[in-house]
Amino acid sequence: TTDVTLSGRTRVLTVSNQKGGVGKTTTTVNMAAALTSVGARVLVIDLDPQGNASTALSVPHTADIPSIYDVLIDEFPIAEIVQVSPESPNLLCAPSTIHLAGAEIELVSQVAREHRLRTALDEYLASLDEPLDFVLIDCPPSLGLLTINAFVAATELLIPIQCEYYALEGLSQLMGTVKMIQKHLNPSLHLSTIVLTMYDGRTRLAQQVAEEVRQHFPQEVLRTVIPRSVRVSEAPSFGQTVISYDGQSAGAVAYREAAVEIITRDAPDGASETEEGS
Ligand code: ADP
Ligand code: MG
Repeated sequence: TTDVTLSGRTRVLTVSNQKGGVGKTTTTVNMAAALTSVGARVLVIDLDPQGNASTALSVPHTADIPSIYDVLIDEFPIAEIVQVSPESPNLLCAPSTIHLAGAEIELVSQVAREHRLRTALDEYLASLDEPLDFVLIDCPPSLGLLTINAFVAATELLIPIQCEYYALEGLSQLMGTVKMIQKHLNPSLHLSTIVLTMYDGRTRLAQQVAEEVRQHFPQEVLRTVIPRSVRVSEAPSFGQTVISYDGQSAGAVAYREAAVEIITRDAPDGASETEEGS
């Protein structure tokens, strides 16, 4: 395996993009599995009522299972809902259930409604004997209270961008929300990583989009690009990530390379104040 040195502190990344179908969940679960494959201990928090990350990690998440809903609404400790994914003993998942669909509304009337995940996560991380290297939070496709809870709980924002038309459209809205969060709720949140996904190098369009995104975000875009690959899209129906489903496939190789890049470029502490607005 690849020789990487982990930082020894827990990096919390929220995987967000208010567009649906751009590869948030796919990136969350495969990046998490790839990170574990190079020696990291990782927690995935499934914050999407769809529960696709829980499904892909083969973690039970029927309505009767304690979930991130209970953490956000009833102040359950995260330790009580975490499950180990069959992918790896070092890959944990805080599952989502269908109850989470109501949480967006229920949170509105809660005390400290934007900080509920942050408080629970801080408590959980402080309680661990064996520390985690990464927490990845899979967000729903909206900028509502669930996503805001993820932004408040994280220090890093990871944006997957699909290499197609209008890839940059909507990004200014996302960055506007991030600025608002930095100002009012979490000054240490910063955009650390952009992952180009579903890249089809045979099309000029994909190349153009990739080039354009790199021009806008030269520091943030990973060198590694995730190719469009059938193996990536079919892995979840076997309750697997592409890393375990077909570790030699182009998608698995790319996610492992991307994971190593994320570990080795290691974001500096605190927000980057030099970020130029675009
Ligand atoms: P989101 O979480 O942003 O809604 P998903 O991760 O669920 O997006 O991905 C949307 C669809 O695209 C899914 O059907 C998924 O299987 C597919 N997909 C994502 N990444 C790839 C890829 N690299 N190659 C092929 N299909 C992909
Ligand atoms: Mg998703």
